[in-house]
Amino acid sequence: METINKKIDEEFSVCDTCGYDRGFHVSFVKEGGGFQAVLICPECGQRFRVGWATPLG
Ligand SMILES: [Zn+2]
Repeated sequence: METINKKIDEEFSVCDTCGYDRGFHVSFVKEGGGFQAVLICPECGQRFRVGWATPLG
């Protein structure tokens, strides 16, 4: 499944793909010198790249 680039306005808690509305799981994907947070819908597995970078690790 393709990761969707998502720009969050005020709140992002509903999956654009399936409508699940109780929030997301989070995963961190290594990229460059740090990690990018990726939100994953617990219902359908859709991945959303939200542009949160963290220097974890
Ligand atoms: Zn979903």
